[in-house]
Parts: sequence; structure tokens; C-alpha cells
Amino acid sequence: MSYKLAPLVLEPLILQEPHFGEGIDEEMRICFMCDEPASTDDHIPPKCIFPEQKDVGVDYRKNLITVPACDNHNLKTSLDDEYLMGVLAFHWRNNKAAYKQSTTKIKRAFQRNKRYYNLFFGASKHQLLFWNGEQLITAPVDIDRFSFIMQKIARGIYYHHFNRKWLGDISIRPISLVAIYDRDPGPIITPLIQITQQMKLLCSKQPLNGANPDIFYYQVAHNNPPTHTIMRLVFYGGFEVIANLSDNPCGNS
Ligand SMILES: [Zn+2]
Repeated sequence: MSYKLAPLVLEPLILQEPHFGEGIDEEMRICFMCDEPASTDDHIPPKCIFPEQKDVGVDYRKNLITVPACDNHNLKTSLDDEYLMGVLAFHWRNNKAAYKQSTTKIKRAFQRNKRYYNLFFGASKHQLLFWNGEQLITAPVDIDRFSFIMQKIARGIYYHHFNRKWLGDISIRPISLVAIYDRDPGPIITPLIQITQQMKLLCSKQPLNGANPDIFYYQVAHNNPPTHTIMRLVFYGGFEVIANLSDNPCGNS
């Protein structure tokens, strides 16, 4: 006797997510950050940092990474996203795509939203600085806000890369935000910088991931199974963040 397999039967088998643990309905999509049902696909990192083709003439929105997210944990259109976009794009060692993003999308957002502008250039927040013959504008970074968003990105990338959630702690080390200081950072900070540089070296030997590397790519170093993972996240070719995921076991659900 021969059986003909109907596509309707095969389809759920092919499409089901393999990484939701036993006892969980495979049809039900769960948020990458919590146990709530997902209501949307969230872009990791946020879509806004990828320049629009009309602004740069290049399609930088190919195969963007998305993860399932609940209403509480999706990053869509929040001021946090736009803040992140500015902090990343303004960095002085970025590529031309970042410059174009600054002079198009971010400029438009400044003109539209004074509150957004003030996050960077509000009263007495910025300073002029001369550095090795270059004139730079510096502005303080809200490191709590920055780390909060970057942790979400690291969790999203972990989910995307390993098909499982990271439920443990994440330490964010924004290499690019400390690199500007010339003076000796002191006995407490110096070892931290050295360890971070070692983490960077470890990741640098790994393959690049990401369909639009001019805007974002990541590298991952991990043990197996991945209970300790180090990520190097690179934005606009110049802004680097190391994420250290360790200390707590990761979850399967
Ligand atoms: Zn959630």
C-alpha cells in the first residue's frame, strides 16, 4: 500500500520551531525574553539603525534578523531605539553608511522631535574636543539606557544564533565608549579593559554573521553546550560592543 503525503500534513512539521521544549505547544510562538505568547516579530538589532534605501542608495535591509516578541518586549518605534541609533551612528570611527544615516534619518528625527535632539545636544550637554588634529563633538551617553537596549539585542542574537533563550545575566562592555580616553584609566578599570580586549580577540577569530555587515555583524565564541557565550557586536563598521553571557545556566523554553 502506498501513501501520498499531503502538503497540509507536511507543512506544520517543516515550519514548527524545534527549540521550544517538551510540553510546549509547538504552534505557539513564545517571546524571546519571557514566557508570554509572542505577538510580533521584533528586529534585532532595531530596524531603524539600518539605513533606508532612499537615503543611501543601497539596500541595507536585506534578511534582517527577527525574533518572536510579546507586546512588552518588542522594541518597535520606541525612543530607546532612536537613542541607540544616534549613539551608534555618531561614533567617530564609523563607516560612511553611519555618516549618511546621521545626515538623513537622524537629522530628520532631530527636526521632528526636540526631546530626541535634547538627549544628545540639550543645554550644556555637549563639548568640543580636539583629538589628534581632529575636531570632535562629545556628548554624554546614558549608559543605563544604552546597556538596557544592548542586553536585549544580545538576548535576541543568542536566540537567533542558538535557537534557545538566554535566561542568565549579560554584561555589556561597550569598547567604543571607553576608547576615547587617553589618560590611564586606573587600577580598577584597566584589568576590565584588558579582559574585554581578550574577549574581543577570541571573537575576532570566529565567522562574521549578518546579511548587512556594513551596518551590523556579530561574532560568537562559546563553549559547548553554550553555557558561556561571548559576543562581539559591530555596528557601522566601527562601533564595537562585547556582550558576556555567563554565570547562569541558559533555558530551553
Ligand atoms: Zn516578552
